[in-house]
Amino acid sequence: MSVTALVIEDNEHNLYLATILLQAAGFVVRAARDGSEGIAEALRETPDVILLDIQLPVLDGYQVARELRKSPSLTNVPIVAVTSYAMVGDKERCLQAGCTGYIEKPIDPEEFVTQIKRHLSKPQLDQLVPAMFGD
Ligand code: MN
Repeated sequence: MSVTALVIEDNEHNLYLATILLQAAGFVVRAARDGSEGIAEALRETPDVILLDIQLPVLDGYQVARELRKSPSLTNVPIVAVTSYAMVGDKERCLQAGCTGYIEKPIDPEEFVTQIKRHLSKPQLDQLVPAMFGD
């Protein structure tokens, strides 16, 4: 069994950084680059965790979170907002839309995976096999 993270992010740099950090920690990563594609991808194959940018084309992250929460297969999947919105009230707005957590950009490579793992169960964490680099 693998642990799958769906990253919904339109910024290529952030998508790349999140992907390499998650893959190094043993996640299988799927990517979507706008809100509509993100919803379709989440419904196609239920991920273990969803990382959700808020400023997205087509549908913003709040709309995406609300749509995802309407699907019975996704009711219990953690949705972690990853956003540079740092205004007072934005965190609450994310949670009200259905997100389970909130990570502020810029992504901190030292902390990012730890922040994601907080939303996973023990059995899921036990399935993560970190990638090996070099010999
Ligand atoms: Mn964005």
